[in-house]
Amino acid sequence: MRKHISMTVECPHCLSSLMDEKVQLSGHPSVKLNVVSVEDRGTINLCSVYECFDHVSSLEIKEGEIVDFYCPHCNKELLVNEECKLCGAPMVSFVLRVGGRVTICSRRGCSNHYVAFNDLSTELAKFYEHYGD
Ligand SMILES: [Zn+2]
Ligand SMILES: [Zn+2]
Repeated sequence: MRKHISMTVECPHCLSSLMDEKVQLSGHPSVKLNVVSVEDRGTINLCSVYECFDHVSSLEIKEGEIVDFYCPHCNKELLVNEECKLCGAPMVSFVLRVGGRVTICSRRGCSNHYVAFNDLSTELAKFYEHYGD
């Protein structure tokens, strides 16, 4: 059995860590971001475990609503020029500290996400070395 893989992510613009040690989800530091919805703005903490969609937010985000994600350090938008293949919402991307990037859908309730490595064989080996056990 493989244990949960917790991912350490950075902002693609300023390369600051997005990890929040103070707020733990599933026993791991969470990923803290600023979010902007149609009505309000606030913060969100996403679970850093791959394929876990737990999160806590200071905003009430309705099921199906699309929110904008911003880096809490440099305040740049984290949306990438890519549409979700499942629902058409913009995708959001972070840099993985071990190399590569993780991309998630910006729509609440959509489960589309993937990890892309620059060099799959070496990066994947590194990934499991860091987080595999
Ligand atoms: Zn940043
Ligand atoms: Zn989607």
